[in-house]
Amino acid sequence: MQYDLVLKNGILVTPSASFRGDLAISEGKIAALSQEPLKAETSIDLKGQIVLPGVVDLHVHFSEPGRDYWEGWANGSRAAAFGGVTTVVEMPLNAIPATTNVAALKQKVSLAEEKSLVDFALWGGFVDNNLSELESLAKEGIMGFKAFMVDTRDTSFQFVEEDLLFEGMKEIARLGQFLAVHAEDNAMVWEKTQQLQKAGRKDRKAWLEARQPEMELKAIQKALRLAKETKCPLHIVHLSIPEAIDAIQAARAEGVKVSFETCPHYLCLTDQDFIDIGPEAKCAPPLRDKLRQDMLWQRVLAAQFDCISSDHSPCTFEEKSCGEQDIWAAWGGITGIQTLLPVMFSEAVIKRNMPLQQLAYLLSERPAQIAKLWPRKGRIGVGADADLVIVDPAVDWQVHQTWLKSKHPHSPFVTWQLKGKISQVFTAGNLLIDRDELVMQRRGQWLKGES
Ligand SMILES: [Zn+2]
Repeated sequence: MQYDLVLKNGILVTPSASFRGDLAISEGKIAALSQEPLKAETSIDLKGQIVLPGVVDLHVHFSEPGRDYWEGWANGSRAAAFGGVTTVVEMPLNAIPATTNVAALKQKVSLAEEKSLVDFALWGGFVDNNLSELESLAKEGIMGFKAFMVDTRDTSFQFVEEDLLFEGMKEIARLGQFLAVHAEDNAMVWEKTQQLQKAGRKDRKAWLEARQPEMELKAIQKALRLAKETKCPLHIVHLSIPEAIDAIQAARAEGVKVSFETCPHYLCLTDQDFIDIGPEAKCAPPLRDKLRQDMLWQRVLAAQFDCISSDHSPCTFEEKSCGEQDIWAAWGGITGIQTLLPVMFSEAVIKRNMPLQQLAYLLSERPAQIAKLWPRKGRIGVGADADLVIVDPAVDWQVHQTWLKSKHPHSPFVTWQLKGKISQVFTAGNLLIDRDELVMQRRGQWLKGES
């Protein structure tokens, strides 16, 4: 058997085992894995570096059409590629129009097909006025639905109150689809926010006070109850409080189908870091206290999470710096797609001894399953797309702004010292990134959801 390419002497991280061996690629797919040498006309000696499946990031905002001055598909997918993210699942909001009907979906697909370097799937939005559009969105190929339980004060993507959420979840269940929710209690958040603003508060701590852990917990409990009543499968995005996991596990015991994610910033930064760093680290829900952070890590290491995603939510420098004097004014979102894998590799694998297979599960395998892209994506196994990330675990390096490929290269992880560096990224068996150089142009493929 003659293969197109063989990657030799890598630590191959498969779902069932990690072992040193060769990986063969033919026609863009993984064709063989072996502890014995495999032959091809072209081969690359990896010299014991780690081979991970390409990351599947379930939660990214590229903000195009409409707000491509924040990021856009070209920059966003480039940042993804440099960070080892070979598949993105892109959110329906921050783009204008938001992806809440078929026309908006088609507009986004055509832009993404033209500009994205990496493969992509798309979330559809469920907002206050598109219940009747959910079926056509599902048929047109969205991967899942996303709704907000809290008002974002962004008129292009309205949040959904409980009654409508109930109706929407019934409809989404009927369509055989699932719903991702941003869970913070609207009434509690806005009552507190208005109280703080009335008192003239503009400091960083006010942001933390406006969006407290119990507000997230209350919304998660509500979402779980609605999921039980409507039998709608649920995905909870960017979970930041460990205590919510008990509620989720109790719901699972009652038959509720629910998955959940957290993000590197909740694991690696605290509320005190937010006070120190400022607007750059503003996000919603906000960063939590050290005790919760420690407990989140314990739960991640105990394999209680489904996945870790970036919640990549970029903006301009100006939209962050305007929050220096008035924290309410700053954009709430962290530019994080490129640092997702490097930060998790260093903080989880190197620092906390997370097994490589567990990292691959959290960043690739499980998100691919949630997005119904499994077994094509998210695994190192025969027949899967040859989307691969090669990591040299021995390299110490520092995150520099110049390394970031986002349109506005800012991140709370700039200056972080990490161990383990991405040396190469392959998509569909082709070398895309080679030692921090983009070496190929390609067009990512739309991974259309089934319905
Ligand atoms: Zn988000």
